[in-house]
Amino acid sequence: EQLELAPFLNKVASQMEQAYHRTFRIDAQIPKFIYSDEKILKQLLFILLDNARKYSEDEVRIQATETTNHVRITIQDFGIGIPVEHIPHLFERFYRVTEDRNRKTGGSGLGLAIAHELAQQLGITIDVKSKLGEGSSFTLCIPKEGQQ
Ligand code: ATP
Repeated sequence: EQLELAPFLNKVASQMEQAYHRTFRIDAQIPKFIYSDEKILKQLLFILLDNARKYSEDEVRIQATETTNHVRITIQDFGIGIPVEHIPHLFERFYRVTEDRNRKTGGSGLGLAIAHELAQQLGITIDVKSKLGEGSSFTLCIPKEGQQ
């Protein structure tokens, strides 16, 4: 289905803001529309936004950009970051970086495994960039030729 991106992201972000009393800043002038399944995409964003707010304390950024064939939505946080050797494993079921640093936030290590499955259903790939102590960004790469 066709989704108008800015209102869609506003809705998702304001639900997160109400639930957690945190700031989610959106920068999504471009593009205007995407083709995707609203419910599945929303679930996918909630997982990434929930992690971003769990593993950081400052504002979380949501940014949309586009390339010739893709729309990219980036969720960026300025939190604890992820050690580089863990990045390839993040999408495995029950994988958590270390119990120690996660004890405070809790969680099962299933969020990103589910995110990965939802992304596959939508033909979306997820790129991860992270630096320990500086923050992380997860980018959804959404094909413009929407199948949905
Ligand atoms: P839950 O299943 O409740 O989401 P979780 O957060 O532990 O629990 P995942 O979402 O699968 O599980 O994330 C796996 C691990 O990746 C986390 O335990 C955390 O160590 C790390 N991680 C994920 N997102 C971030 C992030 N934005 N910043 C830092 N570490 C992260």
